[in-house]
Amino acid sequence: MDQLSAKQLRDKIRAGEINSVAATKAVFEQIAKIEPTIGAYISTFEESALDKAKEVDERIAKNEPVGELAGVPVAIKDNMCSDFGATTCASKILADFHAPYNATVVEKLLAADAVIVGKTNLDEFAMGSSTENSGLKQTVNPWDTSRVPGGSSGGSTAAVSAGLCFAALGSDTGGSIRQPASFCGVVGLKPTYGRISRFGLVAYGSSLDQIGPITRTVEDCALMMNVIAGHDEKDSTSISESVAPLCNYLEKLNEPISKLKIGIVPELNAGSDSEVLKAINGAIEVYKKLGAEIVEVQMPHFDYAISVYYVVATAEASSNLARYDGIHYGHRTENPADYVEVYTKSRAEGFGQEVKRRIMLGTYALSSGYYDAYYLKALKVRNLIRADFTKAFEKCNCIMMPVSPTTAFKIGEKTDDPLKMYLSDIYTIAANLAGVPSISIPCGFDKNNLPVGLQILSPAFSEDKLLRIARTYEKETDWHKKRPSIND
Ligand code: GLN
Repeated sequence: MDQLSAKQLRDKIRAGEINSVAATKAVFEQIAKIEPTIGAYISTFEESALDKAKEVDERIAKNEPVGELAGVPVAIKDNMCSDFGATTCASKILADFHAPYNATVVEKLLAADAVIVGKTNLDEFAMGSSTENSGLKQTVNPWDTSRVPGGSSGGSTAAVSAGLCFAALGSDTGGSIRQPASFCGVVGLKPTYGRISRFGLVAYGSSLDQIGPITRTVEDCALMMNVIAGHDEKDSTSISESVAPLCNYLEKLNEPISKLKIGIVPELNAGSDSEVLKAINGAIEVYKKLGAEIVEVQMPHFDYAISVYYVVATAEASSNLARYDGIHYGHRTENPADYVEVYTKSRAEGFGQEVKRRIMLGTYALSSGYYDAYYLKALKVRNLIRADFTKAFEKCNCIMMPVSPTTAFKIGEKTDDPLKMYLSDIYTIAANLAGVPSISIPCGFDKNNLPVGLQILSPAFSEDKLLRIARTYEKETDWHKKRPSIND
């Protein structure tokens, strides 16, 4: 059963061939067996999950209607609020925080009759590329447990890859869905900014954050998008036009895009490992054989993406994280001498090193005197990056490139050098700055049997086409069917 995709499982549950209680129990057996090694979850909800599964089974037995994810065990990243369990953001400052409401995406999953298995580990407040910045625990890569799962949604991608759930949600501010998806050999989609409600997603960089699906197949990704995409009046940045359910991502998924033009940016490949490039080029060859045309496009401002991101994201983070003051939320220091110490000591004790570094960087970039030199300048360059995409997409339907310059690295390999860690997002950050959708799909393995991800970017609000392009490749190849041996 753990070899099934979420959609296959859903179809079997709906048809009465498998019951959701059995599927959910199988997931919890797998959790009991390998979760102590993987460390994907911060919390699990066996009792409520089985209750929900039972309810779905009973409704199916009575021929009552059930939702799109009927009885499918799924996981959510622990930076999405839920009115059950804690919402920790993997931070000591929120370790005991219980949200009074559900994020819109959580409501939507429940309304679609998904079975929520648990909440997954992440880099604290989603700041990181390896999940090593979690203030609560370590997650390892199911393909090689001495390596990182990527980050910041490393818990979600490890859980999907290791069979600890059938699909999951992540959030992506600069690559946090796609990079760990590529490291763990699963599919990860960062939708267009505004496509999915951020209501109830704990904010890191609000103009960049976007929730998206992490799945075993492109088809599952489309299914999850059908459930979570759409306007939400609780999020003023969510977009109302032509989104699901008006547009059903599954309906036309298997129709290939005719006269597909793929943009490539040759100069960007220089920084990638040769084995990563080999896999990417191999994937592009598959499209070529199917009749796609390859065009070279220029992205002259791409090189500035990381610098721009670390000004914009840290500036927004410094503001967003001001609310953790020892009073409104979470951890409060014991026996403060005065009210200033309530703030300073609570924050000093609650936040980890990387979060503190970013708050300081962002506060500096926003301070009077430096605002124009850093923040405003970064916004201007952000516009140039956006314009690069607009221009490039005049010549092609999508752009393909690696997700990350390397495959999964060793635990501890980059923790002493934040800049090295920041560079692992060199290919993913531009999509967030421009707001365009981007997907990572499995496209091969390196010599250490570690998965490689192909990144495909497309114009804003074209997720339907992006998924079709990704699906075209999936139909031709078997990479997405490979599972780490830890699952056996
Ligand atoms: N790795 C990037 C960072 O550390 C992106 C994180 C994310 O997308 N949440 O900011």
